[in-house]
Amino acid sequence: MEILTHPNPALKQTAAEIDPASDAELLDLVGRMAQLMYDAPGIGLAAPQIGVQKRVIVMDLDDRLVALCNPEIVKVSAETVTDEEGCLSLPGIGVQVERAVEVVCEAFDIKGNPVRIEAQDLFARLIQHEIDHLDGMLIIDRATPDERKAAIRRYNEHPSDE
Ligand SMILES: [Zn+2]
Repeated sequence: MEILTHPNPALKQTAAEIDPASDAELLDLVGRMAQLMYDAPGIGLAAPQIGVQKRVIVMDLDDRLVALCNPEIVKVSAETVTDEEGCLSLPGIGVQVERAVEVVCEAFDIKGNPVRIEAQDLFARLIQHEIDHLDGMLIIDRATPDERKAAIRRYNEHPSDE
C-alpha cells in the first residue's frame, strides 16, 4: 500500500459516497490512510490517493487526527487567498492555488455521526485540497494554464525517489 502519484489515473476519478455506519472496511481504511499520511509526512490524505474510490479524507494539522466521510463544503467566504500548496501525489513541487479563506464543511465521522466544521486559513485550505481529491482534482488542475505547464515540467524534472 502506497500513495499514488500523478499521472496515476486513480487520481482523476470521482470517488463514491459511503455509508459510514455500515462500511465494514472503513476503520481499516482510515487507519491505513493515517499511517501513510504520518509516514510521508503530510497533513492530509484522501482515499483516492491510495486507489480507494471512497469519499473519505484524513487530516492532522494540530496533533489531532480528523477523519471525515462524505465531506461537503456548504459555505465559502467571498474572500480568497492565493498561496503555495504541495501534494503527496505530486512530490517535489509547489503550486500557487487560490482558495476561499473560510469554509463550512458538513460530513460524517467514522461512526456515521454528522459533523459540521467551520475552518479558516490553513485548515480551510487543507479541507478544500482534500475534497478536490474526491472529485479527481489536483493542485495542477487549479493552476492557470501557464502555471500548470511550468509545474508539470518541474515535476517531470524531479521524479519521486519511489
Ligand atoms: Zn493532495
